[in-house]
Amino acid sequence: MRVGQGYDIHRLADGRPLVLGTLRLQADRGCEGHSDGDPVAHAVCDAILGALALGDMGVWFPSSDERWKDAPSSLFLVEIKKLVAERGAKLLNVDVTVVLAEPRLGGHLSAMREALADHLGCDHSRVSVKAKSGDGLGAAGRGEAIEAMAVALVETIED
Ligand code: MG
Repeated sequence: MRVGQGYDIHRLADGRPLVLGTLRLQADRGCEGHSDGDPVAHAVCDAILGALALGDMGVWFPSSDERWKDAPSSLFLVEIKKLVAERGAKLLNVDVTVVLAEPRLGGHLSAMREALADHLGCDHSRVSVKAKSGDGLGAAGRGEAIEAMAVALVETIED
């Protein structure tokens, strides 16, 4: 079994949609980014890539490649699912913490877990998403950015 960690942070800006864990949420501001700027999905992707020692999203989905321009985060998750399957590996579980001042995510966490699990091709019981307010501290706590940290456990055949 192999463990991986992922981290992402995106700056918040006016006039951007807010997409977290592939879900479009009601908010005045959203994350800046080359794609839809979804730090939850991006941290999950990096955690799984890290578990397989396959680098990070920048390696697989370079922003210089038009294919990934404005790509929805669900597309990255599906590509990661394919990479895991191609290596005969299995995602055992993933756990994400997202830090944001607003909006409150409590009512969305269940749907977020299901959406992430659907794209990753696993049962939603294997996906955990937790939200913290940041208590007014740091860029995320002050509402300037949204930050996400993830860990993933992957079972591989060869070791
Ligand atoms: Mg990102």
